[in-house]
Amino acid sequence: MHFAGRTWRPPYEAHSVIIQATTGCTYGKCRFCNLYKDECFRMSPMEEFEADLAEIKMYQPDARRIFLTGANPFAMNYENLKLRALTVRDYLIKCRTIAMFASIRDIKDKEVWQLKKLRAMGINGLSIGTESGDDDVLLQAGKGYTADDIRRQCGKLDEAGIEYYFVYMTGLAGKGGGYRNAVNSAKLFSSLNPYFISVDSLTLFPDTELYRMGQRGVFIPAGEKERLLELQTLIKNLEIRTHLFADSASNFYPVTAYLPKEREFVVSELQYVMDTVSEEEMAEYRRGLKSLG
Ligand code: SF4
Repeated sequence: MHFAGRTWRPPYEAHSVIIQATTGCTYGKCRFCNLYKDECFRMSPMEEFEADLAEIKMYQPDARRIFLTGANPFAMNYENLKLRALTVRDYLIKCRTIAMFASIRDIKDKEVWQLKKLRAMGINGLSIGTESGDDDVLLQAGKGYTADDIRRQCGKLDEAGIEYYFVYMTGLAGKGGGYRNAVNSAKLFSSLNPYFISVDSLTLFPDTELYRMGQRGVFIPAGEKERLLELQTLIKNLEIRTHLFADSASNFYPVTAYLPKEREFVVSELQYVMDTVSEEEMAEYRRGLKSLG
């Protein structure tokens, strides 16, 4: 298999077959991110992609879901994605789903009819690192799009029937901003149909712009309890039926919930943690984290 650079997949794709379609990120300007700092974006040549499919066919001929690696393979244009989807079918006849990371920017250049065609060819399950739905936070984090962009572009995915997942990041608003961020993000997310929402919590790494802003006092990090309160606020304000996973390593206290059914239980669970664990114990946990995932 051809794997170069950093190969990263979300925890919920653990059962998918992984194949490299791209490496690196087309954007690279999010101020909290150090994931692909030393890599340029590159599309795997079709010969490499096909050779990997042939290898997968030898070992997992019945694979039903594959995950394309890279920060945003959905940046490939319609024709390229179409070619890759059809080529997957040539090798893996039982594959129903081709999932990958996508940025809001990657959806902009695609028409709804193209998205519908891609969906029909098996492209489904886009992980979108929205991080927030609040314009001030999106701007400060350097995401390069607005809440309205998220609404418009994900509305196109809804129209095309493409399933997508949001990533939300607690702490990204900085000290004092978590509550507003959670309320505004919940409002935006509730106007769309994310199949689930995955929650990470900001960890400031020294090779990021946000860390340097912290050093200059331009960004003041939120405390750990504020982040739990932010997560609790997000859960309280989401008005859609969706799953929420806040169980990655970056979360001090891992929770998952099917909303709205388990809302009250998870809200009280988080309250118990806030009431019984000290800020220092939570901060100590974060100091031990080594990467964004
Ligand atoms: S968060 Fe995602 S889009 Fe932003 S720079 Fe990192 S990999 Fe690229």
